[in-house]
Amino acid sequence: MKLIKGERLFTPGPVEVPDRVRRVLGGQIIHHRTPEFREAFLETRELFKQLVDCKEDNFVFFASSGTGAMEASVLNFFEEGEKVIAVVGGKFGERWAELGNRWKLKVVEHRVEWGKSVDPDDLRKLLREHPDCRGILVQMSESSTGAYHDVRAIARITAETDTLLVVDAITALGVYNLKPHEWGLDVVVGGSQKAFMLPPGLSMLWFSEKAKERLRDRAYYFSVREELKKQREGQTAWTPAVSLILAFRESLSMLLELGMEEVERRYKLISDGLGKALGALGLRRFPENPSLSLTAVMPPESVPADAIRREMLGMGVRIAGGQGKLKGKIFRISHMGADPLDMVVPLSALEIALERLGWRLKHGEAVGAYLKNVSAEL
Ligand SMILES: *Cc1c(COP(=O)(O)O)cnc(C)c1O
Repeated sequence: MKLIKGERLFTPGPVEVPDRVRRVLGGQIIHHRTPEFREAFLETRELFKQLVDCKEDNFVFFASSGTGAMEASVLNFFEEGEKVIAVVGGKFGERWAELGNRWKLKVVEHRVEWGKSVDPDDLRKLLREHPDCRGILVQMSESSTGAYHDVRAIARITAETDTLLVVDAITALGVYNLKPHEWGLDVVVGGSQKAFMLPPGLSMLWFSEKAKERLRDRAYYFSVREELKKQREGQTAWTPAVSLILAFRESLSMLLELGMEEVERRYKLISDGLGKALGALGLRRFPENPSLSLTAVMPPESVPADAIRREMLGMGVRIAGGQGKLKGKIFRISHMGADPLDMVVPLSALEIALERLGWRLKHGEAVGAYLKNVSAEL
């Protein structure tokens, strides 16, 4: 059916941009070397500091997608030839390994079956075998498989060592009540087009005091040291993504108005509800321990994942497929930026898609199970 409003996005980045943010994005550009920008930038930094619940403002924003901040982590905290362990349990774990190799770190790949979460005890053992390991690179939420990695447990291991724990939290920041300082993380990276509900193009990099002592000067555009100096004064080394910064101030306010504890609780509600809904259809989630930011689903054997996606897109609902070796094997529905009731849309489309593709179900089965789980909270 032709749509009046156009397609809805339920992809793990980009996600739909809320009205409050769009109103800011629609404004005239301001020049960045002005008191007006400086004030807005410092306010944004203050809000981000609240979000990560830290006393120090050891963080910078870059005009780049999330991968830029990943690359910056590798360049600013590690030297050529230094050994790191990359947890590779999906497409984004592979990216850590590739980045490390590209910048000539000695990368020890710790392979985890896709969909499984890394066992912190395995990392403890591995770290004993590699006492010269300078860093562990991991995803908190591996968006390609939908798996959650327990970075808090890993931090308890790295805390006692010289090893830095570098966390790709690109689909975790803005979802979890993430407390990097309290948990003992060392580097945390984020991206705008995920749970911050902004267009792509802004990334964030937070780091600990322990990581600060290891700052290197290998990067030019992505120099954390240069940026930190400028950004603490309300400026940036290069032309910032002005509109995205102004919009970031708005989205951070939105998250903080709810409070991150509440934000996380709502995502948990959605995630659990979707788990129940899939169960009602006789389907299961792909990951063993699902991240709260998205739900990755194994389709029924007789129904190809990409056919489901196509059918749903025909109804105006865009979800994501599998990446890398999961291409065509799973489909992924993002929760980021969604209110609990929003998820009724992709679930309804999923039911109809499955039915059209020959999977027997009763209408409303999944939606009913979902609503049963969330309705008391709406
Ligand atoms: C989206 C994503 C990235 C990559 O971010 P880009 O903004 O596409 O560069 C990295 N890691 C995870 C876990 C992601 O979900």
